Amino acid sequence: MEKDISIFSTILIIVTIVILGGLTAFILLKNEKDVATTNITTYDENPFIDGQPIMGDDKAPITLVEFGDYKCPTCKKWGETILPKLSKDFIDSGKAKFLYVNFPINGKESTLSAIAAESVYKNSPKQYWIFHEALFNAQSKDLTTEQILKISSKIDGIKGKVLEQDIIHQKTASEIDKDMELVSKFDVQETPTIIINNIKIKDPFDYVLIKKIIEKELKDIDEYE
Ligand code: CA
Repeated sequence: MEKDISIFSTILIIVTIVILGGLTAFILLKNEKDVATTNITTYDENPFIDGQPIMGDDKAPITLVEFGDYKCPTCKKWGETILPKLSKDFIDSGKAKFLYVNFPINGKESTLSAIAAESVYKNSPKQYWIFHEALFNAQSKDLTTEQILKISSKIDGIKGKVLEQDIIHQKTASEIDKDMELVSKFDVQETPTIIINNIKIKDPFDYVLIKKIIEKELKDIDEYE
């Protein structure tokens, strides 16, 4: 009889352990799923990228879009910390292309810089990314027309006179309007905002999540082909 009780107790303990283990695994998996869905927003389509500056191979299967502002310090930080990782892991190898869309939200200097960047992209596309980086590096200064022209004069290949006229007459303002259409279509609220294909990320500095999404998108494309 005592032996029966001891066997019964042992079985009871094992069953309890199995149930608790299963429950823990279920809770952990559920939490992971909850985190994943609250950190992203999925749209029906990718942002329309025609007419936007592209870094990397324009035929790369993954499209990364940054909505940024030249006067936004967090955008500068993103460009210095996350973008180099993306370049090394996905852009340099032709797996992803990177695009920058203007969302000027910090006043006149933001708009002026965006208009200037669009002008450089239109007139000297090869110099665009150099100018783009130079604007971010100078963001703590007053980005007046004079200052922007000074920055551009240090970059070979940018036509200063053309840029000056474009800024004065706001000739590339329609490009900013196009960018703002994307801002509203993808309900972009802050800078920087990052969209991977059709997936908007809540935390643009969460590189673990960004990498996971890109790898999943690449795997889906592989399976489809
Ligand atoms: Ca644009």
